Amino acid sequence: MADLLYLEDSFCRSFEAHVEASRHGEAGCEVSLDRTCFYPAGGGQPADRGTLGGLSVLDVREEGGQVWHLLPELPAGTVLRGEVDWARRFDHMQQHSGQHVLSAVALQQLGAQTLSFHLGAELVTVDLDVAGMAPAAAQALEDECNRLVMDNIPLRSYFVAPEEVPRLNLRKPPTKGERTRIVEIAGVDLSPCGGTHVGATGQIGTIKVRRVERYKGGSRVEFLCGWRALRDYQWKHLAIGALARDLSVADREAEAAVRRALAAEREARHEAEQLRGALVGYEAAALRAAAPRAGGVAIVARAIAGQSAAQVKQLAATLVAEPATVALLAATGAAVRLTFMRSAGVELDMRALLREVTERFGGGGGGRPESAEGGGLPPEQVAEALAWAEGELRVRLS
Ligand SMILES: [Zn+2]
Repeated sequence: MADLLYLEDSFCRSFEAHVEASRHGEAGCEVSLDRTCFYPAGGGQPADRGTLGGLSVLDVREEGGQVWHLLPELPAGTVLRGEVDWARRFDHMQQHSGQHVLSAVALQQLGAQTLSFHLGAELVTVDLDVAGMAPAAAQALEDECNRLVMDNIPLRSYFVAPEEVPRLNLRKPPTKGERTRIVEIAGVDLSPCGGTHVGATGQIGTIKVRRVERYKGGSRVEFLCGWRALRDYQWKHLAIGALARDLSVADREAEAAVRRALAAEREARHEAEQLRGALVGYEAAALRAAAPRAGGVAIVARAIAGQSAAQVKQLAATLVAEPATVALLAATGAAVRLTFMRSAGVELDMRALLREVTERFGGGGGGRPESAEGGGLPPEQVAEALAWAEGELRVRLS
């Protein structure tokens, strides 16, 4: 059994230890020591990183009382110096201790038990067995957590024998074992836990609830503590500040100003659509008036640059809304798109005509007798293809 230094002193970050065993695996070499400061993954808290004998510690895990440190290769010597990546570990201590505070307050305020705890690289969450939480309840939870932080209450950890456990009124039952480690926030929380914690609640720093959502019949609370909460505040402060500057308003007015801008944008888009519809109407009337006629049917054959395929299709639909009209249009943007349409009552098959054009000039397409679309023919063929199609129609209509 290794001496687990982090249980006695979670602030111990460097140590010397003897190698007790080593073994090679696929990912590298695993070493177990007679003592270690490296926390192995467990209880929702991820494993530590750092260096051992000058080598990077890639992972740490506990197995039957032994702690295995994964290294890229076998270290030199039998006495190794270990250095824990302190920024990472302290972050884990802030989040994990913050979770104990939040879980204790959730139980006290909402009668909610904590079902699980996840400490990720970005997100920290607890799942509570309470369905739905009003915004005011989430705010009250956050306020009380931060009040306990500012009270700077000491955290202690100690071991108790199994027979003592029933007297302790623990927040959750311990896992079975010879002895139970208790983490105590004086007067606030008493929990069985093998994790690493700060010395007093003040070291947790701000506890910020970021999101509450329904999850599996309960609630998932996403929160950040300490440096993570500050970093979150910092980027949001920059973002709100930049928005407020661009909108020429004070920070607190930024949200309302963005909403006004979004509403104005929606209105402008609606107006642009109406104007576009009117413009297409005029364009269609002019094209139809100038179009040649065969058998009483106006044939509008045009290649149109500078408009999207959707806009060209809208023009074709507007043209054939008038009786006795055929539209043979091509959008000549990045790729050629053909739209062949006819008015109801004109006895012509647009799908067949489009197929004839693409067989002759390249590309493909499909549709219905009254409306067909295609593309893929070379841009330099468009004018000739439309002229050919128009010629065919003149013959068929006369
Ligand atoms: Zn814990």
